[in-house]
Order: sequence, then C-alpha cells, then structure tokens
Amino acid sequence: MPVLGHYLDGRHAPGTSGRLGDVYNPATGQVQARVALADAAETERAIASAAAAAPGWAATTPLRRARVLFRFKALLEAHADELARLISREHGKTVPDALGELTRGIEVVEFACGIPHLLKGEMSEDVGTGVDSWSLRQPLGVVAGITPFNFPAMVPMWMFPVALAAGNAFILKPSEKDPSCPLRVAELLTEVGLPDGVFSVVNGDKAAVDTLLTDSRVAAVSFVGSTQVARYIYETGTAHGKRVQALGGAKNHMLVMPDADLDQTVDALIGSAYGSAGERCMAISVAVAVGDIADPLVERLAERARALKVGPGDADEVEMGPLVTREHCERVKWYVGLGVEEGAELVVDGRDCRVPGHEDGHFLGGCLFDRVTPEMRIYREEIFGPVLAVVRVPDFDSGLRLIDDHAFGNGTAIFTRDGGTARRFSHAVQAGMVGINVPIPVPMAFHSFGGWKQSLFGDMHMHGPEGVRFYTRLKTVTSRWPSRATGSEFQMPVHK
Ligand code: NAD
Repeated sequence: MPVLGHYLDGRHAPGTSGRLGDVYNPATGQVQARVALADAAETERAIASAAAAAPGWAATTPLRRARVLFRFKALLEAHADELARLISREHGKTVPDALGELTRGIEVVEFACGIPHLLKGEMSEDVGTGVDSWSLRQPLGVVAGITPFNFPAMVPMWMFPVALAAGNAFILKPSEKDPSCPLRVAELLTEVGLPDGVFSVVNGDKAAVDTLLTDSRVAAVSFVGSTQVARYIYETGTAHGKRVQALGGAKNHMLVMPDADLDQTVDALIGSAYGSAGERCMAISVAVAVGDIADPLVERLAERARALKVGPGDADEVEMGPLVTREHCERVKWYVGLGVEEGAELVVDGRDCRVPGHEDGHFLGGCLFDRVTPEMRIYREEIFGPVLAVVRVPDFDSGLRLIDDHAFGNGTAIFTRDGGTARRFSHAVQAGMVGINVPIPVPMAFHSFGGWKQSLFGDMHMHGPEGVRFYTRLKTVTSRWPSRATGSEFQMPVHK
C-alpha cells in the first residue's frame, strides 16, 4: 500500500506523526493509498522552510518569477493526461472533467505569468510642489492555502500561481481525500526551477490547519471548503492577525423564465446539476421554475436524469462518476430520504443505482425532486451530490426573492430570451457570480471568483485582480528632493 507523505524543501518527506488517513478509489470502494496526517511539528517545519525561502523569492524580479511560471504552464500541459487520471482515480470524476478542471487551473498560471504588469502601481507627479507619489504592491511573505476534495488541481491553482508570482512562499494543505495531484504538481514546480521551500505541501487535517492558522510566521490564509469550516478558518485566522479569504458552501439556483429555450435549459441543468456527481461548489442544485414552464421542464429533466450514464471515471462515455467516499454517498442518500419525509416529490430516485463490476463503488444515480419548498432542509442545506430540486414560483419577483432569501450566495443563473429581465436579475440578485443563459458562471482567470453571504468570509475574491491584491500589501511612497532646508512644520502638512 503506497504511503503519501509531504513535500518539503523541494523533495518528498515522509510523515512522522504516526497518524495516517485512507485514500479511496471511489469507483471500487477500496483503499488505494494512505496519506500522512501532519502534526504541529511537521507543519512548523514547512513554515520554517517557507520563511527561509521567502526573502530570496521576493527579491527575484517579477519577470524571472513569471518565467518560472511560463515553464510550469508548459509542463502542466505536457502532463495533463497523467494529472487528470490521478485526479479521477482519487476523486471519482470523469477524466474529461478532470482535464477541464486542470485547464481552468492552467488559465490562472497564464494569468499569473503577467505579474510584471499586474504589479504596476500608480504614480502621481506633483502631488505637491516638487513632490511625487507612487504606490507599490509587495509580497506578504509566507502564505497558506487549505483546499477541498472536489477540485484537487483547480482550487489550489486559484491560489498559488498568483501568490508565487507576487513573490510569496506558499504552503498548500490539500484535502486528505485526494492528495496525489497536489504532490505531483509540487514535483513539477521543482522541475521548472522554483527554489526549494517556496512551495510546500503539508498533508493533514485539523492539526495541520490549526498550526497554519495560529503560527505568526504565516501572513495570509486562503481557504475553500464547507461553510462551517470556512467560518472557523476566518474567525481563527483573523483573530491571529492574518489576512483571510475563506470560501464556503453553496446552493446555486437557476431561475427558469417561461420564455426560456427549453432544450437549452434542460441541457444546461443536466450538465450543471449532475456533472461531477453534483460535487461542485458551482453546481446548480435548485431549478426555480417560473409559471407554466414547470411541467414540461420537470418532464424533460426526469427523462434525462434517468438516462444518465453512471460508471467509473476512466471509462469511455461515462457522464457521472462515483461520489468521493462511502460516507459522503450515504449522507447524500440520507438527504434523498429526508426529502421524501419532508413531502417533496421524488420524481427520479437514483439510490438503487448499480454499476456492474463495481458493486462496492460509491455510486448514486441522478435524483430529481419536484415541489420542493423553502422550509425543507433539502432546500436550505447543501447536499453536494447529484440531487436537483425544482421549486415552483408564480413570477419573476417571487423567484428573485427566493434566491435572495437563501443563506448561500455563491453563483446563480437565469435562463430567458428577454434582455430586460436578464439585466434586472443580474443587477439585483444577491450572489457573487451570475450567469445569463450560462449555468455555471465560473469567472475566467483574469476576473475574480467568489460568492456572497455564507459562501465567502472575508472581502477578497480569488485569482484575477482581487487575487493579486490579496497576496500583496500596498505601500505608497511620497518623495521630494528639496535643494535647501525649508524649516520644521508643526501643523498637519497641506498641499503647497
Ligand atoms: P471541508 O470543509 O470538509 O474540507 C476543506 C478543507 O478543510 C480540507 O483541506 C480539510 O482537511 C480541512 N478541514 C476539514 N475539517 C476541518 C476542521 N474542523 N478544521 C480545520 N480544517 C478542516 O470541505 P470538502 O468536503 O473537502 O469540500 C466540499 C465543500 O467545499 C462543499 O461545501 C463545497 O461547496 C465547498 N467548496 C466551495 C467552493 C467555493 O468556491 N465556494 C469551491 C469548492 C468547494
């Protein structure tokens, strides 16, 4: 049984805490590796090595840092298939889907390659007579990223390419459920010439996270995961004087207007609700059907949900792989049972899904609920599985109100043919990312990703311009070169 350790000082390092976690193959249900779970001392070793490496990396010019990232991008592309298979084997998602997440991560590397331009400050000549002023953005030092299981490549890459480009040393604490891809990415960074200690991987759980949150050498923490943990990370990290961005859970609604193109809407809902078995923070888990589109919508969704091709992620033509762990699969099934108890109409029940030859895999077929109401727990809580809920509303205003009243505000979408309705929606809706006839509006790398309400704690989104701001500190310089002494001033200096 392989045992996965950490990646410290530019090489693999075995775990020393004596604690190990199981890494499953979700398609077979078997443990395929064990992963070291770091204790405080191991995590402190990573922090010390990052703190030692950070000044040298910060002193490396932005153009040289960008050139390391250019080489990294080329290597990621050369190893894309290998990385996608590593992701699929531990996460369960299909290989094409894993390639898709990798591509979205590589796009952040491309964005970060523009760091010499992104770090340019503002300059004002003559803010006073003979006085100039300009701003700089400088790295923070040691920063950490704590990431979820559902995007083992993309979510770390929302963070570290920008952090490294900006001149920081980065410590990644990936999900203990699928640690292989982050470890391989660390090897590739060493191969392209990133100095030892500038990027480390510490595998582990709460013990490692708590050390990162409380050690004074860590200046900032980026987190993506469930809301309960995101809140804890934000509160603990900020209480220890750190800059924190903590992205949490979601319940993304799609408002389907009566004039929406039904074929396009059904295609979009099926892909966004059931892709990656619903284990996406931007999955659509609630379809809000306005008026009389509800009946044909549910009918068409049911046909398609029943026909989903479920199987192992590396098999051809599979649309939906297994869920990450047995425990999570059982939890999603429990929610389906709860929905029935709460009085929702279970139109498609995926709980009896069997994949021949993979009887112990964590498989669940697509599930579809109709007539879900806002007080039900299956509506209020994030299920994070292939379960789509349809809520019926009479008009646009009640649909908008429903979305705004939800505790989460990550992404949302509207499907309509009417520009005025779409504009009203995108302007008014209380969510961080909005799609207009786009079901999963994940911003491209050069824009920033983040939700509102319980979906994000902190005030800066990830990657894009907000990512650069998060990983740098602003300094404003005011300068003059007087030719003679001008005397002391005791009043507040004013423009002269
Ligand atoms: P999780 O919160 O269980 O774990 C996330 C990370 O936190 C992991 O690295 C884990 O080891 C660590 N962790 C878990 N419990 C902890 C604790 N008590 N103290 C300290 N650290 C702890 O999330 P997950 O199950 O890996 O991922 C799924 C969740 O992530 C979903 O809620 C999903 O919506 C969310 N997510 C959100 C976004 C977003 O952009 N908002 C993106 C992807 C995933």
